[in-house]
Amino acid sequence: MMNYRLCIMPGDGIGPEIMKEGIKALKVIEARNDVNFELMEMPFGAGAWFEFGTCCPDETWNSCDQADAIVKGTVGLSHEESRKIPIDEQPERSALLPMRRRYDTFANFRPVYLPRAFSHFSPLKPEIIGDGIDIMIIRELVGGIYFGRKEVGTNDQGLRYAREVLEYDERLIQRTVKVAFETAMKRRRKLHNIHKSNVLKSSILWTDIIMEMAGDFPEVEVQHMLVDAAATALCLDPAQFDVMVMENMFGDILSDQAGGILGSLGLMPSACLGPEKAYYEPSHGSAPDIAGRNIANPYSMIGSFAMMLDMSFGMREEASNLWNAMESVFAGGYTTGDLSRAGDSIRIVSTEEFGDRVAEALAS
Ligand code: NAD
Repeated sequence: MMNYRLCIMPGDGIGPEIMKEGIKALKVIEARNDVNFELMEMPFGAGAWFEFGTCCPDETWNSCDQADAIVKGTVGLSHEESRKIPIDEQPERSALLPMRRRYDTFANFRPVYLPRAFSHFSPLKPEIIGDGIDIMIIRELVGGIYFGRKEVGTNDQGLRYAREVLEYDERLIQRTVKVAFETAMKRRRKLHNIHKSNVLKSSILWTDIIMEMAGDFPEVEVQHMLVDAAATALCLDPAQFDVMVMENMFGDILSDQAGGILGSLGLMPSACLGPEKAYYEPSHGSAPDIAGRNIANPYSMIGSFAMMLDMSFGMREEASNLWNAMESVFAGGYTTGDLSRAGDSIRIVSTEEFGDRVAEALAS
């Protein structure tokens, strides 16, 4: 029997609620396969800071080090609550970014998927959605302005200033671009380079490297699009996209917009892959506005588990069964409240009931 150790970090806000539903599905998969998932549940995030004085205690790092894969819920507090934690000790700065750096998880896969049958979830008109939305955003995750040098102070004129450096070297770009080309080869062989070459030198370097590497992937059609234009194109013609590759901050922002065109961030799972370690998390935050009410959409978390089964453990068929189980719950007319629109004949269910229905569909 295969034994996989998972470091499970439910985190803050809706994290624990949606993590519970992901684990429920995992248990069904465990029960019918020759596999054992050893779950190590660890504190991570703002809750850990209040309890242990750090957003990522040493035990959590140790558990992550030992794990075959890491599954993270969500971290963070509301804008007002965040102020209770010193800036440099807040979860993103003191735990999430350090985790990305520690495991060098440079390739962030963010699937943006809405079949035509569920076009009613989207705020876009059905004719814009056409045959459905099926995009893979590849976001570089350990470089750029989020990881560059930072400085704050008072300048010669007595004015407060902040300086943050956006830096990439060709190695960082090449490895992400390679992942993007390889992903496009497995899909519809179309790659959009999302850039800002008209202003940023770093985007010129990205674009140069993409053009240099395109020769190794002659079957992939490459298109270049400014990030601002891409924001509009996602709303007006999302069906044109297959794989989109971009630097860290562009990917952070555009992938949230992608969640918007699907109808909810609750439809956005993700996988963060490094050379030796991967972690999986919903693309969204801790949703403090709905936390603790059993109304969050667990699709993003369950989908992150599906990505783990496929990408870390090669359990492609079970991953596909899990996606299908979630689709069958939607097809049955059930969804969480975030995806309901006025006039829909949808039955709104709780986070827990959605998870139960997925587990039931998966088991049948
Ligand atoms: P958010 O992504 O938490 O929420 C934005 C909106 O989307 C909210 O209205 C929320 O209710 C909704 N939403 C998000 N996930 C949902 C789900 N699964 N089901 C239904 N609705 C969902 O963004 P925010 O409110 O700006 O940030 C809250 C906290 O999360 C902040 O502290 C922020 O720093 C943190 N954050 C963490 C991560 C991460 O853990 N990787 C990512 C983004 C933001």
